[in-house]
Amino acid sequence: HIDNPAVLYMDGVSVSFDGFKALNSLSMVIAPGEMRAIIGPNGAGKTTMMDVITGKTRPDTGTIIFTDNANSQHDLTRFDEADVANLGVGRKFQKPSVIESLTVFENLEMSLKGGRSIWQALLHKLTAEKAQKLDDILDMIDLADKREELAGNLSHGQKQWLEIGMLLGQEPQLLLIDEPAAGMTDEETMKTAELFKRLAQKHSLMVVEHDMDFIEALDCKVTVLHEGHVLAEGSLATVKANPQVIEVYLGR
Ligand code: ADP
Repeated sequence: HIDNPAVLYMDGVSVSFDGFKALNSLSMVIAPGEMRAIIGPNGAGKTTMMDVITGKTRPDTGTIIFTDNANSQHDLTRFDEADVANLGVGRKFQKPSVIESLTVFENLEMSLKGGRSIWQALLHKLTAEKAQKLDDILDMIDLADKREELAGNLSHGQKQWLEIGMLLGQEPQLLLIDEPAAGMTDEETMKTAELFKRLAQKHSLMVVEHDMDFIEALDCKVTVLHEGHVLAEGSLATVKANPQVIEVYLGR
């Protein structure tokens, strides 16, 4: 038992594909309510890291402990993807998967925890508590004025925000988000940074991203991955000034 447990505690996590170490003794700790940016060149192991946390890939060795809202600890290496999601780890892939023929509100309704069918959602069978929750999510993702808009009519950035709202419907404690700023306009990118700062007041976030302006706007601790392990960790300014980081990014 630990008094102030990390939301995520990873230690010595390794994964090999045909003898190639995609993760090589990766260790990382995410504190409650922390936002962390993860950067690193292509092939550094960022996707594989998300895969082992979310139960998509089982590590060969290492420990991954998640502490849920009730302060119970779970060894994530024992669970599959659906179970990890149910424990409170939400993952957002790069490509939005909203249902374009439904409204913003209907997409959010379908995402609510507790397994709702599309028909229940379309009939708007909502308790007052759930309706309030959806309104809170709409405010969080700044789409309250698009509530009745078909998701298909949203901009790329708005679809990404809606999908983040759909993750919130699952009441995750830890959110893993893959390249949120990809394909966004500068204005959408900065709005996304503001959204993430709001999210970080209630959730822990791990954000994989290449866009340095976006990471700067997040103003959070940065972890640099290289060859499957942590090369550097600290503020963006600190890691940018690290000679090993400079070599990895520029020296080849
Ligand atoms: P990143 O997301 O940082 O670009 P990845 O985690 O996708 O890095 O990949 C890390 C390394 O592992 C790469 O060299 C990649 O080719 C390899 N890799 C990832 N997934 C697989 C797989 N399923 N089979 C074989 N090799 C893989």
